[in-house]
Amino acid sequence: RAKRAERGSFAFFEPEMEAEAQALRRSEEELRLALQRGELELVYQPQLDLGGGGVTTVEALVRWRHPERGVLLPGAFVPMAEATGLIHDLGAWVMTQACRQLARWRDAGLPLRVGLNISTIEARRDGILQTLDRAFAADGITGEMVELEITESLLIDHRHDATRSLLEGLRDRGITLAIDDFGTGYSALSYLKDLPCGKLKIDRSFIATMDRPDGRVLVEAIVGLGRKLGKAVVAEGVETARQLEALRQSGCTAAQGYLIARPMPPSDVPRCIARLQAGQDLRAARR
Ligand code: C2E
Ligand code: MG
Ligand code: MG
Ligand code: MG
Repeated sequence: RAKRAERGSFAFFEPEMEAEAQALRRSEEELRLALQRGELELVYQPQLDLGGGGVTTVEALVRWRHPERGVLLPGAFVPMAEATGLIHDLGAWVMTQACRQLARWRDAGLPLRVGLNISTIEARRDGILQTLDRAFAADGITGEMVELEITESLLIDHRHDATRSLLEGLRDRGITLAIDDFGTGYSALSYLKDLPCGKLKIDRSFIATMDRPDGRVLVEAIVGLGRKLGKAVVAEGVETARQLEALRQSGCTAAQGYLIARPMPPSDVPRCIARLQAGQDLRAARR
């Protein structure tokens, strides 16, 4: 490609770009149909409260049960949805679906909060608050039952009007803002003190290196920073008992990861939470 570009001719590019554009349109159409046909699903992963040992929050993660390709992870289709604009429909579907599920759990006597992943593109468009309101109204859900997980990149421009009104709208509704993949963005720490964010989710790359002394120091520093600013701090990607124990000692609020539970269909959630509440896994993890 670079070679062709050096020749300075766009004629070589066009067919290739046209093919790419066509492929994108095809995938868009396929995902649009998938949404209509009910091929998308949400799975839920619990966050274990390291103070009380219970679970109050689960994160919703989208899956595409593709008729030919099997179950697809978000990495395989969310970027395409963002590129085509379909992410707004996908996001609305996620919100509606998750609220419906929250209502089912609530009606079954299991009051839970749900964390929803919102891509920067969704967050920057007007109307996301209205979409949330509609999802809430349909099932009697209130903002206190919902957290929006947004990555740091959105927050760099938190002084801009669109971001500001989103953040204010979240605050008015009592929705918690969680910063996802915390520590991996390129933003300065200074924004943290100005933001109405209630939760930091430490990126799992930091948890993965916790077994090394320097890695552990970093995680402890992030936990300390978050706690001193009055924020809840959740560790993502907790896979070993040693990591869990170190997180507990550091004063981390909650832990999420394969050690505690893998993302699961909603029907498995009540049983998993009961098991975690009983502390069985934790005893096993301590051994
Ligand atoms: P994320 O929000 O940081 O989600 C955490 C990811 O780590 C999930 O991957 C989860 O399955 C995985 N994970 C959880 N515990 C462990 C662990 O112990 N070890 C390892 N190695 N991985 C773990 P998943 O489901 O593939 O999602 C990837 C990303 O896709 C998410 O990252 C999120 O940014 C995005 N995403 C997921 N659902 C949605 C959605 O509904 N809408 C949008 N816009 N993005 C979504
Ligand atoms: Mg997330
Ligand atoms: Mg994350
Ligand atoms: Mg991540």
